[in-house]
Amino acid sequence: MPQRGAPERLDAFMARANAAYYAGRDPFADFVTAPEISQIFGELLGAWCAVVGQGILAGCTGGAGLMLVEAGPGRGTLMVDMVRVLVRVAPHLFATLSVHLIETSPRLRAAQKAALSQSGVSVTWHDGLESVPRGPMILVANEFLDALPIRQFVGEETEWRERFVQDGVFALSDRVEPSELAGRVAEPGEVVEICPVACAFVREVAARLCAEPGVALFIDYGTAVTASGETLQALRDGRPVSPLVEAGTADLTAHVDFEAIAHVAMDAGALCFGPVEQGELLVTLGAVERARALCAAVPDQANTVRTALDRLIAPERMGRLFKALAVMSPAGIAPGLVAPPGFPDGVPYGQKETR
Ligand code: SAH
Repeated sequence: MPQRGAPERLDAFMARANAAYYAGRDPFADFVTAPEISQIFGELLGAWCAVVGQGILAGCTGGAGLMLVEAGPGRGTLMVDMVRVLVRVAPHLFATLSVHLIETSPRLRAAQKAALSQSGVSVTWHDGLESVPRGPMILVANEFLDALPIRQFVGEETEWRERFVQDGVFALSDRVEPSELAGRVAEPGEVVEICPVACAFVREVAARLCAEPGVALFIDYGTAVTASGETLQALRDGRPVSPLVEAGTADLTAHVDFEAIAHVAMDAGALCFGPVEQGELLVTLGAVERARALCAAVPDQANTVRTALDRLIAPERMGRLFKALAVMSPAGIAPGLVAPPGFPDGVPYGQKETR
């Protein structure tokens, strides 16, 4: 019998695979993200930052500057588009701005540096949120949480087993009772995913927002309400492949559980708005008008602009599957802040039922 390799828990495998993947490959050969589809995405979020930033600084004394923090900035395209709008629509805010990028891949850091070299802002890179200075901030994360490592539990009879990876195939642990599933009885064959790293990141962001004024915007694909089912997927050259392919050769992601992260943020004391669907957010922020202006300005690009807009907002494309959640400082910390633009009912998450 050939000797079997040691089993590796799925989250450890996914963390290792994605670290190798982002360090070694050009991810954008394998998938396309919203800011890469159209400049409209980043421009609207830039205008969003201008409004939110003014609210944040309105309540601050002592002339503190604003930090614009991005987690997982990829090629830097979103930041470039946001900053281009900020300098135009809110020059006084731009004058106080410092940009902080949370990125672990040296290769992508270099791409971000090149992209932002002409932007006129000071940029600092960080491995995590801990080293980002304290102070008023806007944090943006697009398709960041979906890349963080997940754990999967599988129902066998009424008990849970955890998925490991061994010799390129899934293996199951003995019976486990994870505290995250809090006594939940398994259905045979049911698969439940949790993402403790995403929850820890959101908890850390929310804790900051309870001490310093600010707003965080998380945009990702996922569900508004916690659901069971397996969503782990791998893409290589734009096509789905097995998630267990050789570590580092494909991009591994899973749906974000927006209900779970909203609860984490609220438990830490922050306010949450949304989740709203990406299509709804972008249309409320003026995506259709912006596309029309671009078409008028560059008529020979009109079809490209329309196709890109459709991809971002149409319900059957990214419009419905992708969602946005805003996490905000409580009133005692940021008295000048109101519900962020694009979150139309203006009612913080969790207070909906009581109104
Ligand atoms: N936001 C970008 C890129 C999304 S891809 C866009 O919309 O185009 C995911 C990004 O998160 C990459 O920049 C990747 O290097 C980064 N990333 C993944 N895991 C990370 C981690 N644990 N810590 C910091 N950055 C991470």
